[in-house]
Amino acid sequence: MKVELEKLKNHEGVAVKALLDSGATGLFMDITFAKEKGFKMEKLKKPLLVGNVDGMVNVGGAIMYQVECNIFFKGHVERARMDICNLGKIEVILGMPWLAAHNLEIDWEKREVKMTHCPPICGKRKQEEGKKEVKKVEKNENEEMLKRLVPKRFWK
Ligand SMILES: [Zn+2]
Repeated sequence: MKVELEKLKNHEGVAVKALLDSGATGLFMDITFAKEKGFKMEKLKKPLLVGNVDGMVNVGGAIMYQVECNIFFKGHVERARMDICNLGKIEVILGMPWLAAHNLEIDWEKREVKMTHCPPICGKRKQEEGKKEVKKVEKNENEEMLKRLVPKRFWK
């Protein structure tokens, strides 16, 4: 599934093919992908032991780094921390925390993912974003604000 990840530092958008995986216990990003795309990797003070990324993906050892970014999907924006590990050919795995947070509707026949079962907190998040936007507009930071909300490759 195509999602857009936004770097927090320069608001650059990166399109990514994410694997939705109900067998994964978290959100994961491949280390090679993170480096190639220039995501800022934060070193963890304590290595994180991950119980299970996926039955098929084997993580060699503990998680040492995380990347914080915004996930854009169908009008939903959220701040997320992804654990960095070696996922091989997979770029990003969106596991149970993300699937459960939006309670996705999946049409298996049409191979479509819909955000129709979102809990009220999703709407609240959007409203909060909206309030922030208004404040920024008042401060005359209109363009800057837009750049923050829209991934870089759509700026033009
Ligand atoms: Zn949602």
